[in-house]
Amino acid sequence: MSRVLIVADIHANLHALEAVLDAAGQVDEVWNLGDTVGYGPHPVEVCEQLERLPTTVWLAGNHDLAAIGELPLGMFNDAAAIAARWSGERIEPSWHELLRSLPTSRIEDDVTLVHGSLRDPVWEYVLSRESAAASLEASSTAVVLVGHSHVALKAFEGPSGSVFLETAGPGVEVEFGATPTLINPGSVGQPRDGDSRAAFAILERDTTASRLTFSRVHYDIVGTQTAMHKVGLPRSLIERLEVGR
Ligand code: ZN
Repeated sequence: MSRVLIVADIHANLHALEAVLDAAGQVDEVWNLGDTVGYGPHPVEVCEQLERLPTTVWLAGNHDLAAIGELPLGMFNDAAAIAARWSGERIEPSWHELLRSLPTSRIEDDVTLVHGSLRDPVWEYVLSRESAAASLEASSTAVVLVGHSHVALKAFEGPSGSVFLETAGPGVEVEFGATPTLINPGSVGQPRDGDSRAAFAILERDTTASRLTFSRVHYDIVGTQTAMHKVGLPRSLIERLEVGR
């Protein structure tokens, strides 16, 4: 049996990542779906932590690309652009190089991993049946894992071929099989589904079965907010953490 920790949208929130790692326990691999930096106060510390872990998948997201100058800041709202610029200045050249080398999608065994969607790996939010169906149709694997929207959800193709999409709270389990299935584990560092706790998923696999479980964990929100305040990150980004929106 192997255990894989799936994380997305950590957004430089070290307290949230540490709480997730504690809650996840022993894992064989970490799959990171991107947006490791941006918004939060600890871009360097989060990258260092991920490098120490058995991180076998590390994707780039739009905020990572903006921080290293690969996407124009004009494509972001003011608060996001300020945080991306600050992150880029904070991280050393070697981290710029690492972030620049990351793919935006990858196929790992029988699972496709992407930050946004199969139609647009960097920018598309998969939040509707239509967008989930398009990604499932474009995928060569039955299972697709996405990040980017900061909303924990699952989408699956029913027997009639139509796609259903629903948000997924902690404890929801999904068995992977032949049914096309799309999963967003939710965001570690800036949840936007009304639950301020850090979100993640655990995938347990052996030769015959794969089961994914959605999870949430409380973290030191005030600690992250204090660190953000100290380095002068925008107030709107600080305040949204406690409401999870
Ligand atoms: Zn994000």
